[in-house]
Amino acid sequence: MLVDLHVHTNISSRCSSVQPEELVERARQLGLDAVCVTEHSTFRGAQVNYEYALERGFKVFRGMEVYTELGDMIVFGWETNIRYYLFPFEDLKREVQERNGVIIPAHPCRGVADARHRHRDGMDEDLLECISAIETHNGAMTRKSNDEAECIREKYGLFGVGGSDAHHVSHIGRCVTVFEDEIADEVELMEALRSGRYRACYGKEVLGVDLEIEPTA
Ligand SMILES: [Zn+2]
Ligand SMILES: [Zn+2]
Repeated sequence: MLVDLHVHTNISSRCSSVQPEELVERARQLGLDAVCVTEHSTFRGAQVNYEYALERGFKVFRGMEVYTELGDMIVFGWETNIRYYLFPFEDLKREVQERNGVIIPAHPCRGVADARHRHRDGMDEDLLECISAIETHNGAMTRKSNDEAECIREKYGLFGVGGSDAHHVSHIGRCVTVFEDEIADEVELMEALRSGRYRACYGKEVLGVDLEIEPTA
């Protein structure tokens, strides 16, 4: 099952131009089986896209992307609307663990969410005990940054996921996660993410479409 695990839409992410109808149309056209909508710090956009897609027979899984002092975190299993720009990681961990949710560091080699998006070497080892995987393939990062994330994955024996981090319709599918099993809903998605029965890859390798990521960052 091919899933783009990291997409922003214009419902809740002002930085994205992707409309729900574009999302469904493009994902279908590419041959994706589902996409995860992960808006910044709110569940609302995911819910709106989920309902829109459901009516049209396409699968959207609902998540969020939360800015923390340890970097951006993809989160499943927590439905909320965070008002802080930078949410304390300890609080995020508690909220998500209480709900048996899943935390995945997004683009772990981009650096913490600040205006400069500065580069950072490695990943905070405090994260290891509470994450299910790391994002080794991010469609908005350079190959170099993704390669570094892959090195971190190997070093710590983690699972790796892929998502486009699309903010424009043409970026959807640049990176994907290939799951071995069919996934019906977010509960099964979280089980799958803990199981490691998947791999991350570039969309062009599995979708047969030229979806090259940007050469520079
Ligand atoms: Zn991010
Ligand atoms: Zn993102």
